[in-house]
Amino acid sequence: MPDERDLPFGVLAECYYRLESTSGRLDMISLLRDLLSRTPPDVIDKVVYLTLGRVAPEFVDLELGIGEKLALRAIAMASGMAESKVEAKYKELGDIGLVAEWAIQNRSVLAFLKEELTVNRVFNALVKIAKTSGPSSQDIKLKTLSGLLADAEPLEARYIMRIITEKLRLGVRDMTILDALAEAFLGGRQRREMLERKYNTYPDIGRIARVLAEKGEAGLEEIKVSLGVPIRPMLAQRLREASEILEKMGSRFLAEMKYDGERMQVHVWPDGRVEIFSRRLENITHPYPDVREGVREAFKGESAILDGEGVAFNPDTGELYPFQELMHRRRKYGVEEMMEKYPVVLFLFDLLYLNGEELIDRPLEERRRLLEHVIEESDRIKLAEGWLQEWTTEELEKRLELAVERGTEGLMIKDPASRYQAGVRGWSWVKYKRSYVSKMVEPVDLVAVGGFWGRGKRAGTYGALLLAVYDPGTDTFKTVCKMGTGFTDEQLAQLPEIFKEYVIEHRHPSVVSNIEADVWFVPAKVLEVIGDEITLSPVHTCAWGKVKPDAGLAIRFPRFTGRWRDDKSPQDATTEQEIVEMYREQLRIISEKR
Ligand code: AMP
Repeated sequence: MPDERDLPFGVLAECYYRLESTSGRLDMISLLRDLLSRTPPDVIDKVVYLTLGRVAPEFVDLELGIGEKLALRAIAMASGMAESKVEAKYKELGDIGLVAEWAIQNRSVLAFLKEELTVNRVFNALVKIAKTSGPSSQDIKLKTLSGLLADAEPLEARYIMRIITEKLRLGVRDMTILDALAEAFLGGRQRREMLERKYNTYPDIGRIARVLAEKGEAGLEEIKVSLGVPIRPMLAQRLREASEILEKMGSRFLAEMKYDGERMQVHVWPDGRVEIFSRRLENITHPYPDVREGVREAFKGESAILDGEGVAFNPDTGELYPFQELMHRRRKYGVEEMMEKYPVVLFLFDLLYLNGEELIDRPLEERRRLLEHVIEESDRIKLAEGWLQEWTTEELEKRLELAVERGTEGLMIKDPASRYQAGVRGWSWVKYKRSYVSKMVEPVDLVAVGGFWGRGKRAGTYGALLLAVYDPGTDTFKTVCKMGTGFTDEQLAQLPEIFKEYVIEHRHPSVVSNIEADVWFVPAKVLEVIGDEITLSPVHTCAWGKVKPDAGLAIRFPRFTGRWRDDKSPQDATTEQEIVEMYREQLRIISEKR
């Protein structure tokens, strides 16, 4: 007797077959609407996941994807064919779904007591396969899968195999399903937008389908922002000019550093559990145990959903690394080792949920105040640096220069009255980056004029040096960057010895600097340095006012090449004028590229 709370899998297979021969979006939606309307509420979540080629929402770490070899063996086992024959057919057809269909059609073992496949049975078997691990897991997977295939009709076999190898590819996306749900349960596609808003704050489409099927629109109210269910991150529009930003946003807004790392949405449970989700909603807790621990210590509340950017940094100097360096951390094995090499600092900029209460509809200014209240900053967990004030074009441009020189990408401009628009790229957040990125091609020779004490591994030696160019016109040395990267451990250890004879009490009279070093040197030692590019700087004194009023030039992401230029006296170092010319050359190359 058919179970009214289940659905024959054949109904799904039939629908998928029709979807495959449909390319029009509207036709797809109506096929799905018909399917969802006739699906019992008890299995509608499973039907939705399967149709998207999954067995769980995106953010649940449950991978299907069994290997080709195992898949072919299961087909051979279920059909009674020799494995070599199945493999040969696979070589011919190149589609494991079609091979399974063909094999089941032509099977030599005939099951007399075939049991009809249902959605529940297929779904549960797939979940079992996805969850099985350990020494005998291959065997269990093989048996479970071939058991399913043995009961399958040829067309069912086609789709089971495509789902399990993650190759369903019906062209159905989550938005297509939302359209179909709106048509099936809310009276029309015009309601999709409302559904999408819900989905953006609670991206579990199975659960949404289920409450709609069970209770209609009223059911949606049950669905609330929840720990463990990542909210789709809010995104930003982009503007190029400071003047455009003032025009669009008015003159009072929040400008925050735009850090160059990875988006991290951190969920904290009352029992201290912490999970991290990526911009694409994957669970990325595993590679970041330091972030997890850091948040556990820094958060002074019961439960929360925090939004921020994780950035790799140099533990000895505190310098921020660019995004590429952080990617070393995204790995399954060797987490401990990478954690030491590329520690992460998390800059928090938003609070979406606190102590059981949803905050996404509160104004940003209030969310940010609450965030400051519940976070006790540490080395690893910081609040994103930002300024809420009245702005002029000039001030905003200057702040951008500072942001870029500090190794961030630029600024994020935010409307302090705005709500958190999950999943939306709207005008409440606007990124303001430089309109160009250039490349520094040659190394330069710079004079060390000061040092900063190191931390961590560099305790007892210098963590970074203050470097300067030479200006023959005034016979002075003007600062152009702070550098802490590129030294070997051995070179680092030698630094105090090398500079011992040059240490002085105060800034040397020939040094022009807005920065206070921990230790000042007589300008003497010359080092070869390569950087990413030359940028405008609101702090460094090199070429002050020469390219732009109230700005100097700086070298961004400077690294020691390893060469001490003892053949050069400090007066032979790269000159201020040369840096100006390099900067102009960069601009020329950029304008030619445009
Ligand atoms: P983009 O990826 O260029 O569209 O820029 C948006 C991304 O910038 C966000 O998804 C975050 O990962 C990152 N980001 C860095 N700093 C901030 C900040 N202060 N506020 C918001 N997003 C930030």
